[in-house]
Amino acid sequence: MTKELYDLGEQPPLGEVPATMHAWLIRPERFGPPLEAFQKEVVDVPTIADDEVLVYVMAAGINYNNVWAGLGIPVDVIGARNKAGEPERFHIGGSDASGIVYAVGKDVTNVKVGDEVVMHCGKWDRNCPTVVRGGDPMYSPSFRIWGYETNYGSFAQFTKVQAQQCMPKPKHLTWEAAAAYTLVAATAWRMLHGWGENAVKEGDVALIWGGAGGLGSMAIQIVKAAGGIPIAVVSGEDKFDYCMKLGAKGCINRNDFDHWGMLPHWKDDAAYGTWLKGARKFGSAIWDVLGERRAPNIVFEHPGESTIPSSIFVCDTGGMVVVCAGTTGYNATVDLRYLWMRQKRLQGSHFANAVQSNQMNQLALAGKLDPCLSQAFTYDEIPLAHDLMYRNKHPHGNMAVLVGATDFGQGATAPEPVALPHPTLPEGDAHTTPRIVPHATDRELLPE
Ligand code: NAP
Repeated sequence: MTKELYDLGEQPPLGEVPATMHAWLIRPERFGPPLEAFQKEVVDVPTIADDEVLVYVMAAGINYNNVWAGLGIPVDVIGARNKAGEPERFHIGGSDASGIVYAVGKDVTNVKVGDEVVMHCGKWDRNCPTVVRGGDPMYSPSFRIWGYETNYGSFAQFTKVQAQQCMPKPKHLTWEAAAAYTLVAATAWRMLHGWGENAVKEGDVALIWGGAGGLGSMAIQIVKAAGGIPIAVVSGEDKFDYCMKLGAKGCINRNDFDHWGMLPHWKDDAAYGTWLKGARKFGSAIWDVLGERRAPNIVFEHPGESTIPSSIFVCDTGGMVVVCAGTTGYNATVDLRYLWMRQKRLQGSHFANAVQSNQMNQLALAGKLDPCLSQAFTYDEIPLAHDLMYRNKHPHGNMAVLVGATDFGQGATAPEPVALPHPTLPEGDAHTTPRIVPHATDRELLPE
């Protein structure tokens, strides 16, 4: 008989779902730094809709979004959901996971009970007119990040996801490594492959900010896999080796320069001249890495305010600066003369659709994308891992925590696959133009 509640690590018989589960909860009355915001509780296991799947979580990935959820800023995610009609006065975070399918809704065809999966974090209403019309669900007003904007994320024994979020778990990865990469890698994939004629192609130079960080470590590998030339920018030479091992052609230490920040006004000759000198010096550091006077075709941006002026300046004619965050601030100052005369593109990008997430996952399945798991933690250490991130004391790459897995290093059931020359993509070759990945229906985009 199915028990009411299973201890952590005591896996219920396959397909048997208990009424309650252990979970780390954030509640509005304790919004604050991670060590205060997160507390262990027992709650009901969520019920699933016809297009949803209940996954027994083996491990969960750590992302900055649940530091924000715990702080209750810039958005009170619980209040926002309550306003939209959801009654729960708590938030279970977690936007990355690996686990085992325990129950499926009646419309689900792509996964079955017992499948080992990883999950991307994009949710949307399959009946939304944008989605029904075949548009990119990333443009749907119903789009939400699972485990941040939605409840019942992966910091619990069971998580509720849409079937289209489930992707095959790479068999050569442990549970914790498999839980570490999807959010950052899929985001980097869309940034690099999702924007038409500016998508990365063989021989392209890509300048990657924060090369040793979560996004940057994925971007280096994705550019390399496409035959491009990644150059990493980092804050110290101690990170060079890490980026070079991932495939960077060379690295630049941003602390060798001091022209960062918003652009001085173009009428302020002295200040603008000083900035220009710094930007040119930065550009010549790129030439030094390449051994030729070439500008990057793509600049992979997320620091934002501090770096955007230089990113636009060094980007090649007809090239693209693609940005998914403004970690240092949101005022992107641009000298439009460089933008229009050189016909450069400043492109916003946010997470990824299911087609793109699956294309990224093909790289991981082929053993061509290292999840860059830097540190794995126990279930009890979920607040601690977030606290490291909160205090910017987290190690290079990506972090994960065990949930259902009882020990580190479990879950790998196959050796490293033989790396393919190119990733096998679900819908033809993404390296040919046009590069905008069309949205497909759920049936088309998911592996059978
Ligand atoms: P991360 O692992 O902390 O890496 C960020 C990197 O940025 C750091 O490694 C750091 O590298 C670099 N950095 C920090 N301050 C900088 C500065 N002043 N100038 C230049 N570089 C600086 O974080 P992440 O996971 O890569 O995420 C980065 C940002 O993207 C976060 O704001 C995150 O919330 C956002 N994000 C957005 C999406 C989306 O879908 N929109 C998805 C994932 C992440 P160095 O110190 O070595 O330079």
